[in-house]
Amino acid sequence: MKLKVYNTLTGGKEDFVPLEPGRVKIYVCGVTPYNHPHIGNARPFVVWDVFRRYLEYSGYDVLHVQNFTDIDDKIIKNAQAGNLSWQEVAGKYIESYFAVMDRLGVKRAHIYPRVSEHISEVVALTASLIEKGYAYALDGNVYYRVEKFSDYGKLSKRNLTDMQAGARVDVDENKEHPMDFALWKAARPGEPSWESPWGKGRPGWHIECSAMSLRYLGAGFDFHGGGSDLIFPHHENEIAQAEASTGCRPFVRYWLHNGFITLNKEKMSKSLGNFFLIKDILEKYDPQVLRFFILATHYRSPLDFSDDLMDDARRALERLCTAKDCLARLKLLPGRGPDAAGAELIAAALRLKADFIAAMDDDFNTALAVSYLFSLAKEINIYAQKPGGGEPPDGKAVQTAAGVFDMMSSILGVLETDGKTETDGKTADIMAVLIKLRQAAKESKDYKTADSIRNDLLQIGVILEDTPRGVQWKFK
Ligand SMILES: [Zn+2]
Repeated sequence: MKLKVYNTLTGGKEDFVPLEPGRVKIYVCGVTPYNHPHIGNARPFVVWDVFRRYLEYSGYDVLHVQNFTDIDDKIIKNAQAGNLSWQEVAGKYIESYFAVMDRLGVKRAHIYPRVSEHISEVVALTASLIEKGYAYALDGNVYYRVEKFSDYGKLSKRNLTDMQAGARVDVDENKEHPMDFALWKAARPGEPSWESPWGKGRPGWHIECSAMSLRYLGAGFDFHGGGSDLIFPHHENEIAQAEASTGCRPFVRYWLHNGFITLNKEKMSKSLGNFFLIKDILEKYDPQVLRFFILATHYRSPLDFSDDLMDDARRALERLCTAKDCLARLKLLPGRGPDAAGAELIAAALRLKADFIAAMDDDFNTALAVSYLFSLAKEINIYAQKPGGGEPPDGKAVQTAAGVFDMMSSILGVLETDGKTETDGKTADIMAVLIKLRQAAKESKDYKTADSIRNDLLQIGVILEDTPRGVQWKFK
């Protein structure tokens, strides 16, 4: 495997070399469960699902950790507004997260740590930063001392002066530097809080991801991901915390960030009223269409969401479904020995497989990989339409094309069972028996029986088609 990835930290494409041979450790910043997941949330989790599937296909043993920020101002606010506990609000939206991600075919991470369950790790990390001189307590709060960490800004490529210029003015006058950020926040009335050496309080946001990734993956792990909006300050601060505390540099080997999603070319925001929830989109579109739509663009490029583009994605996916159905029907026909058309199909499938792998090895270029899946679909359709005088297909060619087609679609996670066109093995076997019986009836000139089999199947929604490659069937 010659995987190259674009590393935000170095600003270039690099060969991927795991910390431990054969193992890949991934940390992806998860959601703050204060609302149902929106379209912007779909992108990082779908692309990381594909990265993980590809790494697994490449033979790596993957450990995937993704957090839930279940203590946060917005959760506390929603809880107060709805007269609920913060646990109820977080619990409800964590459930909602899983419901939509399951529908999108996103495999579950191996570990989903929640900050509320890792307060002791956060306190220990904060204490170690104070002890090393990288943090200081102030009126029950603890702040990170950014000037002490000489690499501060290395991920986002900014210096402290630039940061201050772009920062919002909510500066605590007593902080040593305006960019010093909170590791621990002193308790406020009516908010959840925990005991600490600095009094009752709760964790700042950034510290949780350092504490939990170090706990589950150790310092120096392979991949850290999230949206590009997290580069600064969240990931910059994670680096400052973890590297100052452990002395391990780099704390993460490869930082991968996905691009923004715009809606009809506008930045998504609640105030613009274009803040789309995934669950609402899935009322209109099949989850596979949304997944395919996301993967048809390179993960680092901006992605514009609109109904027109989703309709294009739906049509494109239909073409792939046609090829998949076609393969399923070819597989039902009895195979025979090699022929010239079959040899061409095998050569095309193997060439496209190599192209697909090269695209995925080039910084997970799913946009290009998808185009090779289309090329294969086209080859399969051409083969199925080739006149063969009613001959059965070249069994090995069909098997090879189907193998490559399944490999590509399972890495992308598209064309997964939707319950409509998919058949189990039993249905296929039963259909093969019926087709054989009808064939036998025709051969003995019993057209009445042959027609009755066709018509009775039609009544229950199964269409038989006489094709150049034999009788094929599909659901109406
Ligand atoms: Zn995070």
